[in-house]
Amino acid sequence: MTITFKELGLNDALVKATEALGYTQATPVQEQIIPAALAGGDWMVSSQTGSGKTAAFLLPLLHQLIEANPSGKPQPGRAEPQILILCPTRELAQQVAADAVNLVRGMKGIRIATVMGGMPYGKQIQALKGASLVVATPGRLLDLCDSKAIRLDDVKQLVIDEADRMLDMGFAEDLEAIDQRCSGRKQTLMFSATFAPNIMALANELTKNAKRIELAHAGEKHANIEQKLHWADSMSHKHQLLEHILADATLDQAVVFASTQVESEKIADTLRANGYEASALHGAMPQAVRMRRLESLRKGHTKILVATDVAARGIDVPRISHVINFGLPMKPEDYTHRIGRTGRAGRNGVAIT
Ligand code: AMP
Repeated sequence: MTITFKELGLNDALVKATEALGYTQATPVQEQIIPAALAGGDWMVSSQTGSGKTAAFLLPLLHQLIEANPSGKPQPGRAEPQILILCPTRELAQQVAADAVNLVRGMKGIRIATVMGGMPYGKQIQALKGASLVVATPGRLLDLCDSKAIRLDDVKQLVIDEADRMLDMGFAEDLEAIDQRCSGRKQTLMFSATFAPNIMALANELTKNAKRIELAHAGEKHANIEQKLHWADSMSHKHQLLEHILADATLDQAVVFASTQVESEKIADTLRANGYEASALHGAMPQAVRMRRLESLRKGHTKILVATDVAARGIDVPRISHVINFGLPMKPEDYTHRIGRTGRAGRNGVAIT
């Protein structure tokens, strides 16, 4: 049985927005999370990447914003959002904000702002004025709190996306500081690939009596992604295999994962020298360069992106048909996140290690 967004009780404007995006029915994750979030209380959700989880938390939150301001009055020009969504990386924050903007396109009275490192302060601070929903990475958000460019006292709902990655990236203390700045909130929704003990400890600090929704364990599903393993005899053999795979006629766009920033650049250079449309993406590049490269991937101008784990987090480009693990992931969760770059939005994908 399938459920539509209307049946989930979302208001008409959002139902129309989902139709405009081509979502005909809710995904299983959305079927569970939307009613749970609307019912209130704190929730801990484990869900797989590519399952539609972003819309699953955005829709109920936006629904409540719209219901609270039915006439679409412009919000006062203060930097005091009601909804705060925390993401571990800039790329993910941008993706979540872009999804939110798509869902409220044409609606009045709802402004969305993004706060993240690597971007100029001035514009971000300006955009916060009158924003009801803010998507942020923790470090820059705390910077702006300290300089009083934003206040979190009015936050009613807090979302922590990819909590497992937050811990990996050393954001535990930042999360606690943010938690204290919005301690009057009514709801916290926490998402993570796993419920590992360190995640549960974090959840204990940030949530109250959270109920759990366990949707899929990392690595359990991905039925639409064909996973293969090839053994290489030597480095030069590995490079040959890579080029052989990239020459596959069924390959539309690909992400090649490297173990280090230097390796990602080297692979991209070699591929380009051999006639492939490849570019590198890693965390040490200036933000403007990263954004240009991601945009080029999204538009299909870049066929092959050679990336590191952190830089590739959250990339959501439906035409990515292949993920290639040239360098091996260090942790099981990294593998899951990597292969989740393909097989997006119900398509099939191939992941080769
Ligand atoms: P996420 O798990 O949030 O990264 O979403 C994965 C992809 O699924 C994104 O490209 C979304 O635009 C897409 N998506 C989300 N919800 C739906 C839906 N109900 N029907 C079809 N596609 C969806």
